Amino acid sequence: MPSAAPSATQAGALEYLSLPAAARLIARVGVLECLRGVEQAIEADFRRWPEFSKTARLAQPTPDGVIELMPVADARHYAFKYVNGHPRNTRLGLPTVMAFGAIARVDTGAPVFLSELTLSTALRTAATSVMAARCLARPDSRVMALIGNGSQSEFQALGFVGLLGIRSLRLYDVDAAATRKLMRNLADVDVELRACASVAEAVQGADIVTTLTADKTRATVLQGELLRPGMHINAVGGDCPGKTELDAAILRRARVFVEFEPQTRIEGELQHAAPGSAVTELWRVLVGQAPGRRDAAEITLFDSVGFALEDYSAMRCLQALGRAHGLLESLALMPALRDPKDLYSLVREARAGTISA
Ligand code: NAD
Repeated sequence: MPSAAPSATQAGALEYLSLPAAARLIARVGVLECLRGVEQAIEADFRRWPEFSKTARLAQPTPDGVIELMPVADARHYAFKYVNGHPRNTRLGLPTVMAFGAIARVDTGAPVFLSELTLSTALRTAATSVMAARCLARPDSRVMALIGNGSQSEFQALGFVGLLGIRSLRLYDVDAAATRKLMRNLADVDVELRACASVAEAVQGADIVTTLTADKTRATVLQGELLRPGMHINAVGGDCPGKTELDAAILRRARVFVEFEPQTRIEGELQHAAPGSAVTELWRVLVGQAPGRRDAAEITLFDSVGFALEDYSAMRCLQALGRAHGLLESLALMPALRDPKDLYSLVREARAGTISA
């Protein structure tokens, strides 16, 4: 992987990764290699967690979903993501989740990179799940249940198969067409695929259970009685206030791991845990300050909601890859002025027909 470092381009221009360019990049590099690179970038940044200025994301609830702004900064860069979550969108022909974001220099405030983040979100969410499972799942895990077979599911499946050694996937979705789509997209992958008729059938014998559903309710997709000793739960779909997937009993039986506790308390499965219940932030496990899985019988839960730092890491990784593959465009979004106090010169030049394209 090339080193991931945003830099200033020529004055006024920033590097831009469009959605088609991101798709070409992922196709050329390979989903698995992208997941590997993004996971490495996220882990490197989580290991320097105290260097970042962090805040829970700013969520704007709407009648049919949520729109969120996710900022994060270190001494060099400020980054943000715009993302929505509208479970009913698929009925309108739109994805549930759509996103874009940017990185700016802290010293001047000049943006240096603008990116699509819909594909990148799927990569970074799966990469973060894999990173968590490395610390929390039993190393001999081979069977994963995948509940919810929509947009994110291929990325989670490929990450767990390619990077963690999962050999069998048990798939369940209330929409059988979503499961058929997932099976088609994974047809060339060396993994056993089984479409299941219920959550209980999918979870039977699973070492890891991934929940990836979209429903703007306090759903109980996974019942506590389905837990077995040694399971790891990768709960991804419950990620905003009033939207959860797990039976509250699971929160009492599992050791709970989160990205950024203040945000997960508001948005994650933790919404139905007792205030102040014990949780561990993942970065502490990565730097050796807290144990991950302690024994083969423990039940572990990664209460994933998605944190801004993961998007920053993914953006840097994909920016570097995009640059290496010649897939970044130059976007004239910021002013490049001969006299930095003469913004009006742009209007003069446009009138005279001399403004550069
Ligand atoms: P999607 O709408 O494409 O797919 C969701 C699937 O869940 C659909 O196929 C739907 O039929 C299925 N589903 C709904 N209720 C179900 C139930 N009770 N049992 C089984 N299946 C059910 O959405 P997506 O883009 O794949 O996202 C999935 C979820 O993950 C969303 O809730 C999204 O907000 C969330 N998400 C979380 C993160 C994170 O970082 N934690 C990142 C991205 C997306």
